[in-house]
Amino acid sequence: MNKTYDVVVVGGGVIGTSCAYHLVKKGFSVALVEKDDIAKGTSSHCDGVALIVDKMPGIDAALGYASIKRFLELKEELRYDFELHQRGSLYVCETDEEMEIASKYANDLHKEGYRVSVLTPEQLQEKEPFLAKDLKGGIFSEECLGINPFKLCFAFVNEVKGKGLDVYAQTEVTNIKLNTDNAVEAVETTKGTIITKRVVNCCGCWAPEIGKMVGLNIPIEPRKGVILVSGASFPICKQKIQEFGYMVSKFGMECKRPPELEKYGVSFTIEPSAGNNVLVGSSRNFAGYGTNAEIEIINMIAKRACRFFPILKEMNCIRSYAGVRPFMEEHLPLITDVEEVPGYYIAAGHEGDGISMSPVTGQLISEIIVGEETCRDIEPFRFNRYKK
Ligand SMILES: Cc1cc2nc3c(=O)[nH]c(=O)nc-3n(C[C@H](O)[C@H](O)[C@H](O)COP(=O)(O)OP(=O)(O)OC[C@H]3O[C@@H](n4cnc5c(N)ncnc54)[C@H](O)[C@@H]3O)c2cc1C
Repeated sequence: MNKTYDVVVVGGGVIGTSCAYHLVKKGFSVALVEKDDIAKGTSSHCDGVALIVDKMPGIDAALGYASIKRFLELKEELRYDFELHQRGSLYVCETDEEMEIASKYANDLHKEGYRVSVLTPEQLQEKEPFLAKDLKGGIFSEECLGINPFKLCFAFVNEVKGKGLDVYAQTEVTNIKLNTDNAVEAVETTKGTIITKRVVNCCGCWAPEIGKMVGLNIPIEPRKGVILVSGASFPICKQKIQEFGYMVSKFGMECKRPPELEKYGVSFTIEPSAGNNVLVGSSRNFAGYGTNAEIEIINMIAKRACRFFPILKEMNCIRSYAGVRPFMEEHLPLITDVEEVPGYYIAAGHEGDGISMSPVTGQLISEIIVGEETCRDIEPFRFNRYKK
């Protein structure tokens, strides 16, 4: 290979492809290096929604909202269709305790300016007539986009490939060479060496391996999630619907839930797709890097889904799959330079929000590398937060 690029982006998921796109737009020559193929990691083993109401009020929700706005621009900017749809999103509550916590959560988001409202059981039924009739109510958010994550990766790549971006698929990064000042000098791959002064680690769950190459300990762990796919039918739901237990499982909130769900963090989610198949989830557990969808988890998800959405009992499940979310303890990704290794950047650790946050992550990384004012305060996403 022995080529020279301004920047090497490692990892061809939504985060790597977004970083590569935004960097080329700033005028950099970029090599995107992926050990498998574009969108073969978590970015093709997931759902595809960008929401406000699965984020914590504050920095988390603000980053999600900035990305939603950027997605609407990207719809015009990227010529390859990534199936963006504007929909609403519902959280539904099974118990009075959940309803109380959900109402406070909705109120906190509302105070920050997001269009979130609390719904009565009757209002829930009006929005989604196939929901179970015994629910206590829910919350509704207008800010929700549906996206095909696989196509999104290709939309980013296709727009700039050959115009500043070269893609090296089936090419694994094996080492990063530093010079005597501890600064990035070259990236070694299974197909040869790339000379560069800047490398962006966008390897999601595998980011810790690329961190070790320069002596960094990046605290990301794979957190598995299973999804079921239904056969195509008439549109049974209009928007993303989740039980509030999803928030309890994602953020470890204090709230009583059926104990049998805890083992795999199972909670009901349903999402329409462009082909009228629905994606039904979900689960959350730490089980290494394996992506088997175990029958025990599939059964638990199916049972939970039928409890909230009884019409699913009459439908077939045609497929199941699992992916690993790049989990970080604080539920905030790393979007950062690294002071002790000049030229080394990290964009990883987005857990269950990587699709949603990909546009603004790519934008921020490009601004950080140019050295210009960033569109958001990057302090909460910096690697040096571990030193504090
Ligand atoms: C079940 C499930 C549902 C989800 N639903 C949503 C959702 O609705 N909305 C949302 O926003 N997020 C969702 N997510 C989360 C989202 O999918 C992830 O946050 C996102 O895909 C992470 O993208 P990434 O680019 O960081 O990682 P990946 O897509 O995993 O990309 C990393 C890439 O790095 C490559 N790589 C690793 N090591 C090397 C190496 N040495 N050399 C070269 N390449 C290497 C890998 O092959 C991989 O392709 C969900 C996740 C799961 C599991």
